[in-house]
Amino acid sequence: MNTSLVDYHCHLDLYPDFESLITECEKKGIYTLTMTTTPKAWRKNAVLTKGLKFVRPALGLHPQLVEQRANEISLWEEYLPDAKFVGEVGLDAGPKFYKSFESQLTVFNHIVQNCSFAGNKVLSIHSVRAANHVLKIVEKHKLLNNNRAVLHWFSGNQSELKKAISIGCFFSINHTMLSSEKGIELFKTIPRNLILTETDGPFLLRDGKPQKPLDVIICVEKIASIWRLSIEETRWVIFNNFRSIETD
Ligand code: MN
Repeated sequence: MNTSLVDYHCHLDLYPDFESLITECEKKGIYTLTMTTTPKAWRKNAVLTKGLKFVRPALGLHPQLVEQRANEISLWEEYLPDAKFVGEVGLDAGPKFYKSFESQLTVFNHIVQNCSFAGNKVLSIHSVRAANHVLKIVEKHKLLNNNRAVLHWFSGNQSELKKAISIGCFFSINHTMLSSEKGIELFKTIPRNLILTETDGPFLLRDGKPQKPLDVIICVEKIASIWRLSIEETRWVIFNNFRSIETD
């Protein structure tokens, strides 16, 4: 029996076959953290995954949607007591979303502050061209005193990465990050006990099709070759990191 795979950042509710994908993840034993992009999607995700072993839903308000949906923050807050996992949240200062950056800062500060107050949450955080801001906000609210944070698709620089490691962030890695020299160099700086895997499906493709959680194996294979471990050993390291996040 192989060690279970882990897809710690994907968006199952954005696939047309959402419900059958949940069933597939359960059957194949893939630990899957499925994001929501707006709080309005939370309830359906929570209902469909209630009591499941492998699929867990995260309560999100995606930074790329803040421009239109900042007012849903009150709904997000209302659902927070029911959510162990929070995502997708964060900041996006890329050219397409920079104009809402001030509003994103307000929303993300609010989210982090509320999680810090609540405690015992796991956050999956987006940080496009904004790693520095994200880390400052995480520190300001002492988020990691009583919560865990996973930086999804981290693309900052080496000094931001070192900062993130020093304050105790985890990192979810997808195969696209490992297809550039820069991405591989960043990856190699991260201690092995902080690494998780993700597909970010359906946004990332495999052979022209949206990746599904099972496709996380391509990322595991790339990691195994960088670490010079067997695939099974790599799966075991990642699975143990996953367990260390979710216990205590
Ligand atoms: Mn995502």
